[in-house]
Amino acid sequence: MAHFLIIGAGIVGLSVARSAVLAGHQATILEQGPVPNPQSASFDRHRMIRYPYGAAAGYTRMVTEAFGAWDRLWADLGTTHFESTGAIAISLEAGDYAAKTLATFRAIGLPHDVLDRDAVEALCPHLTLPQGAWGVTAFPGGPLFAADIITDLVRWLTAAGARIEAGTRVVGLDEAEGRVALADGSTRTGDFVLVAAGAWLPRLMPDRFGSLPVYRQALVYVEPPPAYAESWRKAPAIAVLGDHTGYTLPDLRGAGLKIGYSAHRRQAMPDIDGFDADLASESAVILGAFRPYLNEPDAYRPLRMQVGYYALDPSRRFLFDKRGRALVITQCDGQMFKFGPLIGERVVAMVEGRETMASLARWAAGDAPTP
Ligand SMILES: Cc1cc2nc3c(=O)[nH]c(=O)nc-3n(C[C@H](O)[C@H](O)[C@H](O)COP(=O)(O)OP(=O)(O)OC[C@H]3O[C@@H](n4cnc5c(N)ncnc54)[C@H](O)[C@@H]3O)c2cc1C
Repeated sequence: MAHFLIIGAGIVGLSVARSAVLAGHQATILEQGPVPNPQSASFDRHRMIRYPYGAAAGYTRMVTEAFGAWDRLWADLGTTHFESTGAIAISLEAGDYAAKTLATFRAIGLPHDVLDRDAVEALCPHLTLPQGAWGVTAFPGGPLFAADIITDLVRWLTAAGARIEAGTRVVGLDEAEGRVALADGSTRTGDFVLVAAGAWLPRLMPDRFGSLPVYRQALVYVEPPPAYAESWRKAPAIAVLGDHTGYTLPDLRGAGLKIGYSAHRRQAMPDIDGFDADLASESAVILGAFRPYLNEPDAYRPLRMQVGYYALDPSRRFLFDKRGRALVITQCDGQMFKFGPLIGERVVAMVEGRETMASLARWAAGDAPTP
């Protein structure tokens, strides 16, 4: 039995803890904030899982593996925090993200449907698309109810004997010894240390990760026009609209209709820039990007902003970096929630010697076929 010492109670840290406990190991999670931490990237009403991934065949394949891991989590929790609406990538011009997605689906044999503009508008009557637009849908896909998942995972881990220490900030790490230093001056040691510190990693490990770019991303919850409330609930989640970086998650299970626009992000740090948002100006930017494609665009009422942070470098690939007894998981992008339980399983397999670190790192970078 090994002792897993885990820094960070987001989806990654909690998932590794669960897989460790299931395999008979001991797990201790150290979290600087409350648990669950509403400021972690993992805590929002919903996060999307979807097949459309542009040209990234490795990550597209990983989505199938991820669904298997979610099913194993639902079995443990005794409930399913997911609704499959499917996900759609909408093409606005040749060679855009949806076109790359379609080429990937065809290359790897992933089941999908291609819809012409009229069919997309019939499926999504809230949209009005330009001539020549088309869409590609894939199932399953849609909202993972993130806050419910995190809350239930914490409950499950506590019942299963994991130790979760809220308000416990790690300030230093000795990778060779597997020892961490806490803000109160004490230390903890593990056989294996997982660093899943999300956007705070540059603060914890400035020598290695001080220049890692961290982004603030704000999403808006909106009330749609009454005529389209039901169609927004039933239609596939929009994974992408051209290369315009807009996406949507439906108002199911009371989560609210959420609109994101990846271009509305800026480099920032959570401890400096905080979690406030300006509803009027920021929602205007996000809704403004969707405006040309919405029926009744003026009838959308912004309700609230949700601010989150993630680390992301230009490679747009997850980085799993192990030195000594410590594995750092970073460059989570706006993408890693969907892979949380799967990452938990793979990390524990690596620690137990069932997978090499080199193969795990290649897989995480989206390069390797499933071993
Ligand atoms: C706005 C937004 C939208 C997103 N949309 C999607 C999506 O639709 N689909 C998807 O799959 N992914 C999405 N993501 C990405 C996904 O949410 C993240 O990649 C994922 O949640 C990262 O999980 P994590 O556990 O690594 O980090 P976090 O959830 O950020 O958890 C890290 C935790 O570590 C703690 N911590 C940090 N430093 C210390 C320390 N020194 N000591 C103790 N504790 C520490 C923090 O307090 C925090 O609670 C989105 C992210 C954002 C921000």
